Order: sequence, then C-alpha cells, then structure tokens
Amino acid sequence: MVDTHCHLIDPQFNKDLDDVLQRAQKAGVKKIVNAGYDVKTSQDAVRQAQRYEWLMPAVGIHPNEAAEQSLTEMSKIIDIAQSNKVCAVGETGLDYYRDFSPKEAQQELFRKHIILACSKDLPLLIHTRNSVDDAIAILKEEDFHQGVFHCYSGTYEQAKTILDMGYFLGFGGVLTFSKRTRDVFKNLPTDRILLETDAPFLSPAGHRGQRNEPAYILETLNFAAGTLEMLPEQLEEILDANVARLFSSWGEHHLL
Ligand SMILES: [Zn+2]
Repeated sequence: MVDTHCHLIDPQFNKDLDDVLQRAQKAGVKKIVNAGYDVKTSQDAVRQAQRYEWLMPAVGIHPNEAAEQSLTEMSKIIDIAQSNKVCAVGETGLDYYRDFSPKEAQQELFRKHIILACSKDLPLLIHTRNSVDDAIAILKEEDFHQGVFHCYSGTYEQAKTILDMGYFLGFGGVLTFSKRTRDVFKNLPTDRILLETDAPFLSPAGHRGQRNEPAYILETLNFAAGTLEMLPEQLEEILDANVARLFSSWGEHHLL
C-alpha cells in the first residue's frame, strides 16, 4: 500500500514523526509520497527522505501560497527538484475556492510547475478546488499528460476528460463521508484511481476533527473496496500497480 499524497513536512508532525511512521509501517504502508507546499517544506521533504528511505519527496508551491514573490521562489523549487530522490512536482494546481491569491498568479505558477515536471519527466500532483476546467485547459495547452488530480472533487464528466488526457484520480478520506465523491468514484476504471490521506488534513470518517496520518489509509482502502464490491487485498494489488505506472520513470532508480 502506498499513501500517494501526504504532508509529513507539516508542523503538525514535528513532535512525533517517528511514531507516525511506525504506525504507518505497522498498518502495511510501504511508501509515502510526501509533498511540500512551499520552498521550506519542499526542502524538508527531501531532507526527510534522506533519513527515511521509504518516503518519496515531491516539491512545489501550493496555489494558496501563490504570491508576487512566488516566481522567484519557483527558481528555488527548480533547484530542489534536481535531487534524484524527488518523485513528483507538486503540490501545485489552482484553488478558486479560498481565493488567497489572484487567479492569474496561480495560473502562471501552475504553468511553471508543468514546465518543470516536463523537463524532469516527473508526474504532477495537482490540487484543484472549483478550478477543474481551468486546470484541464492549461494542461492541454501545455500538452502535458503525467500526474494525478489529487483529492478529486470534480464531476464524473470532468473525470472522463481527465482520464482521456492520461491522468490518474486520487481519493482520500473525503470518500468515506461524501456521497457525491463516492458516486463519481464507483464508476471510474480501477486502473486509474489512487488512494491517499492528504495527512494531516481531511481525516476519514472515524477520525474526523483529528489530525490525519498515513496509517489511516487502511480505513479508506477498506471503505473503497466495499464501495467497489471487492476485497481490500484485490483493490490493493490494483492500486500498487497504478502507483508503479504513475512513478515509472522515478521507480527505475528507486524500487517501488
Ligand atoms: Zn495536499
């Protein structure tokens, strides 16, 4: 089992990261994609992977952090992305819900991430909120086709377009409490879905209001398997194969 999107670099894990990782291993989590959301946390993600080999660092600037200085910051992200440990570019994307930064600034920054992913032949970890259509349009314009729409919250119609473009769709704790998400999820081809926690955020049903952590991915796995009327072991096997495909260029150098 791989947690394909989480933020162990978040200060909420400062005190007990060892314990959190131990619980994850005990739960059967073999790898964790650990995504930065600004320069500091991207550096931290690479640093954590030096200490814990089974963590897969991703580097990027979250759209909520898109600000005037972020184009300069982006040059630092490009530097950090030169580490061969880095498995993906992100978290990046567009967030029109929170409106922390102007749409144009977010779009420009998103394009910089796409160009970086393209130059490094790495997948993108894409965040969208009320912005799926614009994200699709930009990815089409840039003609880039590798990555995952994480914590997918769009419609089934949008999902079909995204799958046609070659992307995966990531689902986390929201699946366990949102019927709308579940209705989209259960109609998707299983060879294009991924599971994630997005820890410390978005805990699954049994842990709402608490800090999320990678071990809880098992609960989402069980729930997802139930929704698809499969055994968790069957679904896990499919998901592991999906992860291997998404990170195939990275995986050639790092056993998945
Ligand atoms: Zn995230």
